[in-house]
Amino acid sequence: MTTKPKSPIWHPFTQHALQDEMTKVVRGQGAYLYTADGRPIIDAISSWWVVTHGHCHPHIVSAIQDQAGKLNQIIFAGYAHDPAEELAALLLKVAPRGLEHVFFSDSGSTSVEVALKMALGYWQNIGKKRTCIVVMQHSYHGDTIGAMSVGARGVFNAAYRPLLFDVTSIPFPARGHEQATLDALESVCRNEVPAAFVVEPLILGAGGMLMYPARVLREMRRICEASDVLFIADEVMTGWGRTGTLFACEQANVTPDIACYSKGLTGGALPLAVTLCRADIFDAHYSKDRTRTFFHSSSYTANPVACAAAKANLDLWQDPESRQRVASVVTMQEQAIEPFRADPRFANIRRTGTITALDLKTKDAGYFAGVGPKLQAFFKDRNLLLRPLGNTIYVMPPYCVTGADLDEIYLGIRDAADALA
Ligand SMILES: *Cc1c(COP(=O)(O)O)cnc(C)c1O
Repeated sequence: MTTKPKSPIWHPFTQHALQDEMTKVVRGQGAYLYTADGRPIIDAISSWWVVTHGHCHPHIVSAIQDQAGKLNQIIFAGYAHDPAEELAALLLKVAPRGLEHVFFSDSGSTSVEVALKMALGYWQNIGKKRTCIVVMQHSYHGDTIGAMSVGARGVFNAAYRPLLFDVTSIPFPARGHEQATLDALESVCRNEVPAAFVVEPLILGAGGMLMYPARVLREMRRICEASDVLFIADEVMTGWGRTGTLFACEQANVTPDIACYSKGLTGGALPLAVTLCRADIFDAHYSKDRTRTFFHSSSYTANPVACAAAKANLDLWQDPESRQRVASVVTMQEQAIEPFRADPRFANIRRTGTITALDLKTKDAGYFAGVGPKLQAFFKDRNLLLRPLGNTIYVMPPYCVTGADLDEIYLGIRDAADALA
């Protein structure tokens, strides 16, 4: 390429040689984003899965404003503050029972790194040699080296492969093949004596919105428990109402040993993540021996403004109205996706909670399907923020979305199929 991009900014997951025109947005409100010339865009994917109650929710905005003028950053080793203390207490109240400690970080990837380090630290500190990590095929856990190591291998991480550590993978529990997954997990747990199993509960997001039933999640948890394998639930995407319940693990009635939450933790307003764990994992690090410390930190650990935003988010979840909205999005999404089941141009029509997905039938499937960029351009022209994963189109709206908004989103999807299938 000889023509230089107009902006010096290097955007994420963006091939600038193919797409150098970024849509500049100046304002967000509810389910809508507004461009400089006032064009409204429906945010049908919650700005990469983070916005839950809507853009610029007034309660979250005012919590941020209040906290920003009081204390906006402080070292978190040796120091504490109310926004973090109050948030931790609220989190433990809503999280699956049995999780007792909260470690703060600043992104989903980091929360997974923290989970892996907690697991390995646990085994080292109790004097047992367990280091192997078990993962599920097609998983995504983030883009840092450790998070990539436990995620699916492919074009996305081919260049970094020499740096990724080895893991043991079990198959995705595709419909009709659930037992194969459970058998594989059972066999790995018995033969390899792993340290931990890390999994996205109910839906594998970036892997293509692949869904599996709660009963499989419950069985996987049981198998891990029987072999003392730590069960890490990566709820970075599934948390905060996406699957219809506050957390996906609730539907399987399981408490993981370690849980990762981020994305919707602040309602999508500021970056923040937490890794929650059971008491025995904390206790294994609790000692007068300084070498048993949990050696992890980031500069902005438990940033007070981000904690205040998350606390405001938890306030909103205390209001029954939030759960009613989720329930109504679940119903509207089911009604909207239903007609596609009879549409021969689509396959694998699916929904878990507030998330729907469907695959446009094309010659080449997968993330690099030729139709992917065309779909994206089509939706952009329609003022719809949708970002298909190859030929997989999914809708993951903020919970303030209206029936009329959804009508427009699905009309766009139908028209895209007319134009491109
Ligand atoms: C998005 C995502 C991550 C990574 O979160 P970042 O905040 O982007 O680092 C990890 N796990 C899952 C399941 C995700 O969907």
